[in-house]
Amino acid sequence: MKKLMAANWKMYKSVDQGVTTAQELCALLDGQVSDDREVLVCTPCTMLGPVAEIFSQRPYCAVGAQNFYPAAQGAFTGEICPEQLLSLGCSWALVGHSERRHILGETDEFCARKVAFGLDAGLKIILCVGETIEERRAGQVEQVLERQLMVGLRYVVHNATAATLSIAYEPVWAIGTGEVAGPDEICAAHTFVRTTLCSLLPSCGAEVRILYGGSVKPDNTAAILSLDNVNGVLVGGASLHAGSFAQIVLA
Ligand code: PEP
Repeated sequence: MKKLMAANWKMYKSVDQGVTTAQELCALLDGQVSDDREVLVCTPCTMLGPVAEIFSQRPYCAVGAQNFYPAAQGAFTGEICPEQLLSLGCSWALVGHSERRHILGETDEFCARKVAFGLDAGLKIILCVGETIEERRAGQVEQVLERQLMVGLRYVVHNATAATLSIAYEPVWAIGTGEVAGPDEICAAHTFVRTTLCSLLPSCGAEVRILYGGSVKPDNTAAILSLDNVNGVLVGGASLHAGSFAQIVLA
């Protein structure tokens, strides 16, 4: 199973800045990425096309979207559909990132519709799950993860595969805070996610990649990747600079 090293550029960068970062990243990674690593950069939708063009010559690297609307087309002002993303050379999309759940109000059920629609349309999906600090303090980590996975995957139990679906465990309190989860917390959560995936998706749950996200930096990546059931990372802040994301990819 290749480790999936995913970047999330959030709502940062002009098109020119994104193109420059993608070019710098390729200059640092070309010929360096081992066969057991796969790189993904989720950019703002404004620059998906030009960044996909840069990555198109690089089999180790793909471009992903941070969002889409679960419909083929229609009167959904401001939204973008999977077909439009695919036509730009975008092959992946995030669903359920905590910023979309907590700032944009996306529910577990809406995430479930997005996972199903995105997979059907031909996108590969990373479903993000994770607890808030209040939920952790209340001892509800497993309850939250189980709910987000059971509902989020409810429409794809028969057609998800390990090649097309990944999960990102991102404790909300570790995203953008510099407070990385400890090894015991990561191991416990990833083991729980793995067990839940195996029961929800008997045909592929053991192989679906589980990424860790939350203040991943060049100096903590190797230790995080060495933990059981950590099959990659999802990186926000430290992915904005080609140099630091390249160090993470090569860690
Ligand atoms: C993220 O945006 O998914 C994320 C994990 O951000 P950061 O790496 O900045 O914590």
